[in-house]
Amino acid sequence: MEQDTLVIWAIGFGLTLVTVVPVVLRLRHKERQTDALELKALKYGLHEPASLHPIVDPARCIGTSTCVSVCPEDVLGIRLGQAIAVSPARCIGHGLCERSCPVEAIQLVFGTEKRGVDLPRVKGNFETNVEGLYIVGELGGMGLVANAFEQGRQCIDGIARETGEGPEGLLDLVIVGCGPAGLSASVTAASQNLEFVTVEKEDIGGTVRHYPRKKIVMTRPVTVPGYGKLSMREIQKEQLIDIWKEVVKSVGLEVATGETVAAVQRIAPFHFRVTTDRGVYESHRVVLAIGRRGIPRKLSVPGEDESPHVVYSLREPEAYSNDSILVVGGGDSAVEAALALAEQPGNRVKMSYRRSSFSRIKPGNHERIEAALKQGTIDVLWETAPVEIGSDHVVLEDQAGARTEERADCVFVFIGGELPTDFLRSAGVEIETHFGAP
Ligand SMILES: Cc1cc2nc3c(=O)[nH]c(=O)nc-3n(C[C@H](O)[C@H](O)[C@H](O)COP(=O)(O)OP(=O)(O)OC[C@H]3O[C@@H](n4cnc5c(N)ncnc54)[C@H](O)[C@@H]3O)c2cc1C
Repeated sequence: MEQDTLVIWAIGFGLTLVTVVPVVLRLRHKERQTDALELKALKYGLHEPASLHPIVDPARCIGTSTCVSVCPEDVLGIRLGQAIAVSPARCIGHGLCERSCPVEAIQLVFGTEKRGVDLPRVKGNFETNVEGLYIVGELGGMGLVANAFEQGRQCIDGIARETGEGPEGLLDLVIVGCGPAGLSASVTAASQNLEFVTVEKEDIGGTVRHYPRKKIVMTRPVTVPGYGKLSMREIQKEQLIDIWKEVVKSVGLEVATGETVAAVQRIAPFHFRVTTDRGVYESHRVVLAIGRRGIPRKLSVPGEDESPHVVYSLREPEAYSNDSILVVGGGDSAVEAALALAEQPGNRVKMSYRRSSFSRIKPGNHERIEAALKQGTIDVLWETAPVEIGSDHVVLEDQAGARTEERADCVFVFIGGELPTDFLRSAGVEIETHFGAP
């Protein structure tokens, strides 16, 4: 009898070992992965969210770790048996984590408790509070080329299922902007046989056209309706624009380039009047894909508007040589511009950044700027901000209020873009400030 009990205990113990030990080991492995991710996030300043990011409700999370497995950007990890956002700044907002959670413990939010983000109010189908008026791409708060592309496609697929309302004789749609979001909206509209026009104030490509020459665009594969899959992950800016132009040609798309939309007016339900610098279009619906970078944020310091040497984008680094250059800002755009300018002969490049280290920049850029700092090809004036701009110099102020003068033949300002608030408000779109709450 005693021996039987012993055997039963031994079997029970063995079974427990066989089932529990692998689970514990798996958990420990996941926690170690989380530690490694966290270290990387801290090193590269990715632990603070930049825009959209997931928050986990600990009262609901049961630690299945599905969210961790489905997120290709390594945003989430597992700690003490629950999911946590380890690298929220890496979030690109595809929402796979939110959708995969079996207990709805994850929500994607914009901004943080302290830092609000102004965004137009947009529903899940990309419609604003104005019926028939949609916003896709970076204007809605979600940056990155592939996201913009995906949103443009999803928005039009939704619209194609709903057409029919509104007075006769109007276009189905006016698409404003032909960056990645507007381009994808346009090719999808063509594949859905919608009657539409696309109006672009510059040329096809949007913000990508303004990247420095030969910049590598980091992206992910996307499907172009009526064309096929674009499977590149890294591609030179010029090549990407060429591919987009080929898409436009192959789909037979006509884009009204060099035409600027000045106003969008809702005349009646599903009747919009879109006024441009060339004429007027009337349509049932309007899709705004105008990005946020059209209006670069300014420093608003004396001398900025008067100086012809203050610029807000860099397309031809080769045009600058033997210059003293100050790049203001600390994001990817500022770092990429500084690196490109430092490669040109004879340039002396300094950066002015209000923080004490770079945060939220892509790991690749982090490595490149660290190498440039070590080699001394770029110098960063940490915790400073311009307070005055002269014809050949900039006055910088540090956090203690001390001022220094820096020689600068050219000043490049990369401190983000302004939401085109007046334009949106005049179209009736409500704008909300998000503070990272669910
Ligand atoms: C320097 C830099 C580097 C970047 N690197 C990357 C990267 O490597 N990978 C990545 O995924 N993302 C990157 N991004 C972000 C990416 O470029 C944007 O998120 C993306 O371009 C947004 O696409 P969009 O179509 O929403 O807007 P945009 O690309 O900004 O296009 C908006 C278009 O609307 C047009 N427009 C605006 N107003 C009007 C008007 N009134 N009438 C008519 N047309 C109008 C503009 O001319 C523009 O062509 C980078 C951004 C910058 C600034």
